[in-house]
Amino acid sequence: MNETEKIDILSLTKDELIKKITEIGEKSFRAAQIYDWLHIKRVTDFAQMTNISAQFREQLSRFFCIKSPKIKKRLVSGIDNTVKYLYGLPDGEAVESVLMEYKHGNSLCISTQVGCKMGCRFCASTIAGWVRNLEPSEMLLQIYETERDSGRHVDSIVLMGIGEPLDNFDNVVKFLRILNSEGEGMSLRHLSLSTCGVCDKIYELARLKLGITLSISLHAATDERRGAIMPINKRFPLAELMRACDDYFAATGRRISFEFSLIEGVNDTDESADELIELLRGKPCHVNLIPINEVKERDFRKSKSVEHFRRRLTDAGINATVRRTLGADINAACGQLRRDEAVDS
Ligand code: SAH
Repeated sequence: MNETEKIDILSLTKDELIKKITEIGEKSFRAAQIYDWLHIKRVTDFAQMTNISAQFREQLSRFFCIKSPKIKKRLVSGIDNTVKYLYGLPDGEAVESVLMEYKHGNSLCISTQVGCKMGCRFCASTIAGWVRNLEPSEMLLQIYETERDSGRHVDSIVLMGIGEPLDNFDNVVKFLRILNSEGEGMSLRHLSLSTCGVCDKIYELARLKLGITLSISLHAATDERRGAIMPINKRFPLAELMRACDDYFAATGRRISFEFSLIEGVNDTDESADELIELLRGKPCHVNLIPINEVKERDFRKSKSVEHFRRRLTDAGINATVRRTLGADINAACGQLRRDEAVDS
């Protein structure tokens, strides 16, 4: 078997690994040992699995491979310990992860696709389109490699890097299942998934009852305004999106978090704030206001009235906070690092 035909062992759930191991004639308890080496001790070579016989290790390396990413770039903020990584993948592609330090611990933002199909007008990740989905292992390894390189423990994870997680649904769910079964106790309560609003998949996600927080990239509260900056709004208009959010809350009991990136003159006026108040009135939710990151290929400008906008929402009884800007000195907008690399090379 050549390297490319081998099974990517880090992308297997525990049940899938048990099945594969028994197929090659081994006892199923070996799967737990292998899982421990891969996901807890995080070895990068079968030879390091010392409680497994040399003969079985040799057999494993014939059928399986252990992928490992390469750090192509590491930008460390001199202000607040934020670290931005550009990870190189085996096929020459690259994705970004960002490690941020908060009072409650370290949070890692990871990518779920190489590029993105969604076409949001203000986003750098979608400019050159979609290339491919990430495998479960390629999402896990962003966590493992970041912890290894930084020496810091990741306490919470946000699926908010490059890509639309619900457009890579099966691999994302598998990644979540692996993360949850590792034994190390990474509770999925500390995990948020951010989507531009792929409604059919929001219903599916709710049925899985994984207990993760759902973040919706809202950015505008009328179909006209939202449709002008987010093409997904044509497929799933706001009324449908709100129904899917209500269903997610009813099925999981988890309050929805709405992301609202403020763009000067586009969605930061009093009128926009009032539309948002109207849309969210009475809903159990939280609004995260973000001054938009300026992307050099786009002409959107940062809003100057973020605090005023927030006050208007909170005065109307809507729970809203402004996201703290981290890593201002390394602040390439999401997807910009990968994009710069593609343009340079
Ligand atoms: N596709 C998913 C997750 C990736 S984008 C989603 O749409 O939610 C992560 C978040 O960053 C989203 O809220 C997205 O709308 C926002 N975003 C994208 N480009 C941005 C920019 N230039 N400035 C501020 N936020 C941006």
